[in-house]
Amino acid sequence: MHIRLSFITFSLILFLVVDMVKIPKSHPRYWSLLYREKIIEGMEKGITAKAGLIAHGRGEAFDYLIGEKTIPPAETAMRAAIAKLLLAKHPVISVNGNVAALVPKETVELAKVLNAKLEINLFYRTEERVKKIAEVLYENGADEVLGINPTKRIPGLESERGKVDENGIWKADVILVPLEDGDRTEALCRMGKFVITVDLNPLSRSARMADITIVDNIVRAYPRMIELAKEMKSLPKEDLEKIVATYDNSKVLSEVLIHIRDRLTKLAEGGIWKKEKLDI
Ligand code: ATP
Ligand code: MG
Repeated sequence: MHIRLSFITFSLILFLVVDMVKIPKSHPRYWSLLYREKIIEGMEKGITAKAGLIAHGRGEAFDYLIGEKTIPPAETAMRAAIAKLLLAKHPVISVNGNVAALVPKETVELAKVLNAKLEINLFYRTEERVKKIAEVLYENGADEVLGINPTKRIPGLESERGKVDENGIWKADVILVPLEDGDRTEALCRMGKFVITVDLNPLSRSARMADITIVDNIVRAYPRMIELAKEMKSLPKEDLEKIVATYDNSKVLSEVLIHIRDRLTKLAEGGIWKKEKLDI
C-alpha cells in the first residue's frame, strides 16, 4: 500500500514536471515563458545558480517596461560595443549561468565573429558549475573555453568572486560582461578595462558603471550583435574609431529612462485595461 502510494505521488510529480515545460505556442507570452523554462532547466542541470532565477525575474520586469523589443538607444549602444570589440587587441566575452542557459549558441557565434575569447566567470563559482557550463559551450561549437583554472584575482574582490583567467579577463583590454553584478563591473573598470554590459535594468550598478550599456534582453541583443559584427567587420578602422569616439553612454542611459517614461505616459493616457495589443 505504502509503495503504491509513493509510486502514485512520484508519477504525479513527474507528470507535473513534464507538463510544466510544454508551453503552447499559442500562448500570448510564449517567448517569455520559453526563456523562463530555459532558466529553470539551467538550474536543474546545475548551470544556473538559484540567484540567477531571481535575476531573470528582475530582467523580465524591466523588459515589460521597455516594451519587450530592442529600443533605439540599445541599437546605438550595440553598434558602439561591436566597434570597440572589433578594435580590441584582446577582447573577451564573459559567460555566466544565465547566459549559458539562455544564449549558448549565440555566445559562441559572437565570440567567433569577433575573434574574442570566451571565459566562464561566475559570481557563485563552484567547480561543478564551471565544468557544466564549459560542456554546454563546447557542445555549442566553442574551440576554447577559459576560466576553468583561473590563477589571477581581480583586485578588491574577495576569493571566489575575483578569480579570472590569466589569458582571458586578466589580460583583456575590452570585456563584454552581460548580466553582471555591479560590484564586479566596478572592479573591472578600476582595473582599467573597457567594460561593455548587457543589462535590462538601466538603474543597476552595472548599467551605471559600464563604459557601454546595452539595455536590452540578451536573447534579442546577441543575435543582433552577431549581425552587426558581420556587417561592421569590413569597415575601415577609422570608421570604427569614430563610432566609439562619438558614443556617449550617459546620454544613452538617459534616453532609455526617457523611453520608459514616455511609454508609461502614453499607456496611462491611452488606457491599458483589457487591451489585447499595446503597440507603442
Ligand atoms: P547590480 O549589482 O548591477 O546593481 P543586481 O544586483 O540587481 O544589479 P545582478 O544579479 O547583480 O543584478 O545582475 C543581473 C542583471 O541582469 C540585473 O540587472 C537584471 O535586470 C539583468 N538581467 C536579467 N536577465 C536578463 C536578460 N535576459 N537580459 C538582459 N539583462 C538581464
Ligand atoms: Mg548585484
